Amino acid sequence: MRTIVKNGILVLPPGCCRADLLIENGKISGIGENPDGTGAEVIDAKGCYVFPGAIDAHTHMDLQSGPVRAVDDFYSGTVAAAFGGTTTIIDHIGFGPKGCGLHHQIAEYHELADGKAAIDYSFHGVVQDVSDELLEEAAALAGEGTTSFKIYTTYDYKLDDAQIYRFLKRAGSCGIVTAFHAENDSLIQYLRSRYVSLGKTAPIYHAESRPDDCEAEAVSRILHLASAAGGAPVYFVHVSCAKSLAEIQKARAMGQKNVFAETCPQYLVLTREEYKRGGGEGLKYIMSPPLRTREDCGALWKGLALGQIQVVATDHCPFNFAKEKQLGKNDFTKCPNGAPGVEERVRLIYSEGVAQHRITVGRMAEVLCANPAKIFGLYPRKGVLLPGSDADLFLLDPGAEETLTVSGLHSAVDYTAYEGKRVRGAIPLVMQRGKVLVKGRTFLGTRGGGQFLKRKKFKGW
Ligand SMILES: [Zn+2]
Repeated sequence: MRTIVKNGILVLPPGCCRADLLIENGKISGIGENPDGTGAEVIDAKGCYVFPGAIDAHTHMDLQSGPVRAVDDFYSGTVAAAFGGTTTIIDHIGFGPKGCGLHHQIAEYHELADGKAAIDYSFHGVVQDVSDELLEEAAALAGEGTTSFKIYTTYDYKLDDAQIYRFLKRAGSCGIVTAFHAENDSLIQYLRSRYVSLGKTAPIYHAESRPDDCEAEAVSRILHLASAAGGAPVYFVHVSCAKSLAEIQKARAMGQKNVFAETCPQYLVLTREEYKRGGGEGLKYIMSPPLRTREDCGALWKGLALGQIQVVATDHCPFNFAKEKQLGKNDFTKCPNGAPGVEERVRLIYSEGVAQHRITVGRMAEVLCANPAKIFGLYPRKGVLLPGSDADLFLLDPGAEETLTVSGLHSAVDYTAYEGKRVRGAIPLVMQRGKVLVKGRTFLGTRGGGQFLKRKKFKGW
């Protein structure tokens, strides 16, 4: 089967060019002025950018979080992703039972995702303990295509500094990238209980109890642990504030290599003022780290433009406002942490980033497509429009304007954090491996049509 995408503007970082794209057997086979498209089905991309399929390197589909479960499973969550231009997710899997090995949760997530995911997918492993046996298992999993793992410095299965050092030492020698949720657990626990004991239980105290210094301190500590462990690659998920970014830049200035930073649209677009919304709506924005200030948003945009931040992912972790989020109605500490965003991401970054001249369209393709593919071992199969790459792409019509509203989105969740927001840019077509997944408002993919992706080991940036 042959397809030709004609008349579009291909986004080939660092820039763009007007060219046609020929697709054969699910792969890109030619790029140019007039590749021989005889007999090919024609997709007219006139007036549109043609981006590589976006990669979301941070989702939580079907996540069990304490007593509640994220409301998107691997089908509804990946359909929503597809409508938003995302054709690959790398999911951060939930914790398993105490004492389980690293394979346990990977196997569990294959059960959850296989036969359901509508787009291609992979998993980051999760480290909830460290032992010699477990380090062997991590090395083995890397050989099986799971080449990144996540460590938490807060929540139930947080690791201590020696455990983190031991893991990094081994990870660095076997091509593993270690992702970190960085927050200072001890101070946060103190502040949370202190606010609750004072009767300060409104959503704003979620932000007050997790100040930016808590994040920046943990980022700094991990950078030093990685340096002590021989410069193992580290990737900070959801960097939310200027102080964390300053710690990352300081380490780089000292010569530390393989330090990667991710942020998310909510930290670029929203601020802590959302927690003060009436009607308990502040609960919609309870996520960790919390939303910060307008100055932090500005520092993150600048970090994206200057190459200090490599990736924009979503941390999509949806709980219904009418149900699960209400657990925090009288006490923010009882509210499940997380917010949806998998479908909104690409349009928000175009509208708030490119259309507002904060980043270029080429930079947008780097942070949404190429960089996550490079860091997590999917490049050049994913993340780029090159001959031989999977024909994953989306069209973005820069002339269109839309209003984000929950009824127009496809997640199972009952709200969007961006309700009523006008965005520039629409996504009229999405394709995966040469097949049209989304056309206009119609989903043409299939349940289980996504493939599990084994990833390559990290070999330097
Ligand atoms: Zn997360």
